[in-house]
Amino acid sequence: MIDISPVLNGKKAEIEISQEVKCDSNELRTYGVTESSPVILDGRIFFVDSELYLELNYRSEFIFECSRCLEGVKRDIQGRIFKEILHEDEIEEEIDAVGHSNYLINLYDVVMEDLILSIPIQVLCDSECKGLCPNCGINLNQKQCDCEDEKIDPRFESLKQLFKE
Ligand SMILES: [Zn+2]
Ligand SMILES: [Zn+2]
Repeated sequence: MIDISPVLNGKKAEIEISQEVKCDSNELRTYGVTESSPVILDGRIFFVDSELYLELNYRSEFIFECSRCLEGVKRDIQGRIFKEILHEDEIEEEIDAVGHSNYLINLYDVVMEDLILSIPIQVLCDSECKGLCPNCGINLNQKQCDCEDEKIDPRFESLKQLFKE
């Protein structure tokens, strides 16, 4: 939470933001993130004429699960937010602004909303990742298995049954 009253009542020209926030690991888990470092925030809150703005850079490092082989993949996460600050009651559907309530802004929510949009849908350890064998589950980047030769097409299998009958 950040208190914006010092800039609103003129005690300060701007508010500097320099802090770290810890992510909710359960929330991130649903986006394929298995581990996360704290998110480093740095920015400021200031007036441009009569409008109040939030400028914020954030960065962190997350470990994702490779979509094919499930190995951990480290990725830098970063972004920049530049938005007007309005009272939350003034914010309507089409206005992309940061809301405050009682002069408080929930920075965590503001950052997470933006950060989640920047999370890639699919993360691969390598574009050539061979993934796991669907039959024995072995990581095909590390080892080979003999499943390929023994694999029987299930359609072919039922056809064989048919001939037997
Ligand atoms: Zn992989
Ligand atoms: Zn196999």
